[in-house]
Amino acid sequence: MSQGTLVTRQFGHRARLALSPTEVSKADAQAHAARTLWNLLHAWWQMMPKDQRTLAHADTAIRQARQDLDFLTVLPAQAAQAVLKTYVQAWKNCWEGRAAAPKFKARFRSVMSVDVPQGRDLHITRVHRRWGMVNLPKIGRVKFRWTKDLPVGKHADTGNRITGARLVRDALGWHIALRVTTLEAEPEPHPGPEAGIDVGVTVPLALSDGTTYEHGPWLTEQEQAKLLRLEQRAARRKAHRKSGERTSRRLRRTYDQIAQLRAKAKRRAADWQHRTTTTIARTYGTVVVEALTVTNMVASARGTAEVPGRNVAQKAGLNRSIAAEAWGRTVTMLAYKTARHGGALVKVPAPGTSRRCSACGRTTPGSRESQAVFVCKNPDCGWSGNADHNAAQNILHLYRIGHVAIPAAGRAVVRRARRVKLATAR
Ligand SMILES: [Zn+2]
Repeated sequence: MSQGTLVTRQFGHRARLALSPTEVSKADAQAHAARTLWNLLHAWWQMMPKDQRTLAHADTAIRQARQDLDFLTVLPAQAAQAVLKTYVQAWKNCWEGRAAAPKFKARFRSVMSVDVPQGRDLHITRVHRRWGMVNLPKIGRVKFRWTKDLPVGKHADTGNRITGARLVRDALGWHIALRVTTLEAEPEPHPGPEAGIDVGVTVPLALSDGTTYEHGPWLTEQEQAKLLRLEQRAARRKAHRKSGERTSRRLRRTYDQIAQLRAKAKRRAADWQHRTTTTIARTYGTVVVEALTVTNMVASARGTAEVPGRNVAQKAGLNRSIAAEAWGRTVTMLAYKTARHGGALVKVPAPGTSRRCSACGRTTPGSRESQAVFVCKNPDCGWSGNADHNAAQNILHLYRIGHVAIPAAGRAVVRRARRVKLATAR
């Protein structure tokens, strides 16, 4: 093999932290301080005349607040600086049309997180096959689950290192999200076949060569029953609560249990996506997907006037919330994984791929007999088969005849429309 050129790869790695109760409360306190700092900053920003809203002024205000308010001192100085940076970036994103204006962060509705912006503060070492140790500023040296080889110790150099981290708390506890940079040999071009992928309605992923990737329900029957019971309990307790009254400790506990089950389902879904996209990236050289917008994706569960969605009620709950995020993440994973294997991900603008016949190329009314079955109504053709498979073949066909979506480099991302027009879905 020839010595290829090296390319820099940046990625995130998330690991579960094993914290003692004391360490958990320290991390919690830091996250609350970070959120309070954000809110103080936001109040300050709105109060200041426009010409005085500068990074330098905000920095002075933050330093002052850290001197005046005792509880802010639990937050490491670097983390406080990171709050300021994120806040200013949030305004930039707003001015450039990528996001809405920053808002105050509510205690229970915002994600608890603390930044550790400097990678060299972390001093990561591996102490066991399954455990690593990391320094968390003002918390101490703690254990985390070691599930991936990280460039630390003698494996670290200027090209391969950890550049920073963020501590994030979800329903399953505190995690550390590491930012990793590595230098890797540019992969040889992937000689594998081309494949079109359709986001199936009857199967999660249908490929143009007939392969399908399916998954079971994310929660076991027992877990589903438990979730239902908890949701009913929460609804009952909520109904008994007088308006304006604080959420009771018992109700909050029920909410936490619900969040834990949902987080478990989400983690299993993400795990399935990782395994599936890795297999696809290893197998195929060129992967073609439909250039879908998220709005269309949410609507597709409901279906269109022509092809009404099936199992709409079933998809409405947990599954819908997962599915809505899933496609975007699948595409992101496919993009970086195909690139790593020397392949490529291509998006095609593909209206009507679910209604066109892949055998004769005609679109005839009524050909989509159901969500699962496609029967061509062209009298000279009459092809019939799986509807998702048909759509995947159409997507590949569009790529082969040269319909490729040009990525809108540097253009502002259009924010999601509030209402979905059903007629344009899929
Ligand atoms: Zn046909």
